[in-house]
Amino acid sequence: MAEQEEASTTQLVGIVVVSHSPALARAAVDLASEMLHERPVRMAIAAGLPDATLGTDAVRIQDAIEEVDSPEGVVVLMDLGSAVLSAELALDLIEDPEVRERVILSPAPLVEGLVVAAVAAAGGADRKEVAAEAQSALMGKTDHLSPSGGSTETSQPTADSAQEVATFVVHNRHGLHARPAARLVSEMRALDATVQLRNLTTGAGPIPAASLSRVATLGALEGHNIEILAAGPQAQEAIEHLLAMAERRFDEPADQAGDDVAEPIQAVQRGDQGNCPLAASSGIGIGSVRRLSSAPVPTDEAPIGAPAEEWQRVIEALTDVRRDIDRVRAVAARDVGEHEARIFDAHLMLLSDVELLDDVKRRIGDGDGAVSAWIGALEVIENQWAELDDPYLRGRAEDVRAVGAQMLTSLTGTPAVAMTGVGILVAAELSPAQAAELDRDCAQGIVLAFGSPSSHAVILARSRGIPAVVAAGPDVLDLAEGTSIVIDGGSGELVIQPSEEALAQFRERAAELGRREQQDRARADESAVSVDGAVITVAANLGSGADATAAAAAGADGAGLVRTEFMFLSRDRAPDVDEQTREYLAIAETFGDRQVTFRTLDVGGDKPLSYLSMPVEANPFLGHRGIRLSLDRGDLLRDQLAALCRVARRAPISVMFPMVSKLAELQEAREVLSAAAGPEGIPDRLRVGMMVEVPAAALKIGTFLPHLDFISVGTNDLTQYTLASERGNPAVAALADPLDPGVLRLIQQVCNAAHGQIPVAVCGEAAADPAAIPILLGLGVGELSVSGLSVPSVKARVRALDLTQCATLAKDALELGDAAEVRHLVSSALADAPLTS
Ligand code: PEP
Ligand code: MG
Repeated sequence: MAEQEEASTTQLVGIVVVSHSPALARAAVDLASEMLHERPVRMAIAAGLPDATLGTDAVRIQDAIEEVDSPEGVVVLMDLGSAVLSAELALDLIEDPEVRERVILSPAPLVEGLVVAAVAAAGGADRKEVAAEAQSALMGKTDHLSPSGGSTETSQPTADSAQEVATFVVHNRHGLHARPAARLVSEMRALDATVQLRNLTTGAGPIPAASLSRVATLGALEGHNIEILAAGPQAQEAIEHLLAMAERRFDEPADQAGDDVAEPIQAVQRGDQGNCPLAASSGIGIGSVRRLSSAPVPTDEAPIGAPAEEWQRVIEALTDVRRDIDRVRAVAARDVGEHEARIFDAHLMLLSDVELLDDVKRRIGDGDGAVSAWIGALEVIENQWAELDDPYLRGRAEDVRAVGAQMLTSLTGTPAVAMTGVGILVAAELSPAQAAELDRDCAQGIVLAFGSPSSHAVILARSRGIPAVVAAGPDVLDLAEGTSIVIDGGSGELVIQPSEEALAQFRERAAELGRREQQDRARADESAVSVDGAVITVAANLGSGADATAAAAAGADGAGLVRTEFMFLSRDRAPDVDEQTREYLAIAETFGDRQVTFRTLDVGGDKPLSYLSMPVEANPFLGHRGIRLSLDRGDLLRDQLAALCRVARRAPISVMFPMVSKLAELQEAREVLSAAAGPEGIPDRLRVGMMVEVPAAALKIGTFLPHLDFISVGTNDLTQYTLASERGNPAVAALADPLDPGVLRLIQQVCNAAHGQIPVAVCGEAAADPAAIPILLGLGVGELSVSGLSVPSVKARVRALDLTQCATLAKDALELGDAAEVRHLVSSALADAPLTS
């Protein structure tokens, strides 16, 4: 948020101070305030980036302008380089054309300009006069120091008089690739100098040093000589700074810069077992590295708006994507390290690349729509990069593609789910929407640089049978398209450029898995009856109608969890009651007389809804999600429950509420249900349950029981909350194990309290974990709800178990210290009942 510096007055021009540095902006405002002698002027500061680093941010500037705006208008003063671009973007972001009209971006020097502008504004000058005052702010100083007008002799060059020239040698092993180039560009943008670069070794250039897309086209490799041409007030500083940075290899650590490592990353991992990512979705994936490309976009389908409207669309998409990248960058910095996260700075830089945006704007001016203008401008950059001689730098076209795809997603509302070909998708992270819409025929596996096994995107990959490993580290993002790669999503192994021998091994594993799956599938339609005759319901977790069809075909005894939120993602508004009714009914009918449990909307946490305004939360998993958000957005909940009541009149379904922590929430949700049911009342067949995901709910389970027909334990969330280990965070993924006796004790408490009253199911990922199944059944769980594809193997696992033995195992497990001990206990006790998935 912009900082408001003065109490509000209505009749004076407002002033916005845009600076890379909050400290500088505050000091300048203090200085100007000294001159005002307590006369009030509204001044707002927009300085620094949201992550507290130096820089300027268009959204902050927009906020600041809107804060000090009045019918008298606003004058904006800026410091260096990209501040001007950000201020221009901010103007574009302002929706109200009247407000935009009355803003003047002043080219005046920040400090001198601010002082005179503030004095003029305080004196009641209009905005044009204030801007004119600011612009002439240097006159006094110029007169005083110039030989004709002043008494002091000076040898300072004027702003444009000199062009400074110098050369440096690139010492980085991969040349000026994304990170060092981004560093160079951001430093140059912060100076008041026009800097150009020429590659003397290849003759490429000169190109503006303030444009990341152009710096990449220099093709600057290790050992190349680069010429710097700098003009402007800070030309000398720019040269000195650039030379020093080049000497320091643009602050790349030694291994990245190429000092201490003999081989680039592809070769380090080539043929060996690579670093060990986390197992996330079982199965073997063998293929070539592929990326997400932009989905085919219906460029010409929508009518093209006026240029101003189309440009506005681009601006909004830029803001959107910038926020997304900021978020991923913050997660990457936290989970993997600040240095690795800098790859995203290059992505951010592209989003404010002057050359790129100018090209987009020009195309829009020539009549293109936002989407085709963006695609066209990006293609130019991609082609320039793709023509570079060096394969490593050429590979950086990936960065352009990644950002380009994100922009198209935002511009069109369609997730970028098209892969660049059949193979193993390698990406930084996946959103749940992307995972849900990946083309199964293309995706032979997924490797994520970040992420964790219990994130929703990974759960979806699992439910779609796509082998996956996560937390593989950012180096995988440097793998060239087409590199051969194999993964074992069950063990977490990843091998880059495998030898023939390794390939044969993985193929053999895949064949063995296939044989076992075939055996399990042959009996999938039969009930899961334990050795001692207990019938356990093995139901499916679903996110769509297609999942329902697949799960019913895989022998599921019903659906224990329909994650309805997936029908709300990837669209620009919530489905209405009719549409929901159709979707829910189709799912229910797929299962005939088998019970289907719909969970009400569970958004928040790692599942944002683009059309719900959700403020950024420091700890979204501890925040406004699940039933908390639904109760606050009663309209959404009511529509959903109305649709479910309609379906319940025609099929045997249940409804359950997520993330309940106290009885009042359940009661309120039931009141919304009664209201949504209308005059006919709640259908008799509709069973009402809740998820136990919050430890407090498990501990207080007795208070809920009289109001429930069933309970479903969400072990994914229950585990993250019990062990204080965020489910999306790879750094604590090993700790977040549902077999921890702390979690098991909570489940035991729930089962004991519900015993003889209502059934208890488990629908978290633990329900499909071969080691967890005997413990859960031993604690008294009667239903396991798992991804459709896991149904046959989970049924096979149940058939091999004796529940009396499971009860003893569970009792012993509760006494142990951690999940590893429990896993050890299970594997030694059930050595003759091998794990089947
Ligand atoms: C859970 O938390 O275990 C659960 C099933 O819900 P979700 O994974 O959708 O949060
Ligand atoms: Mg949950």
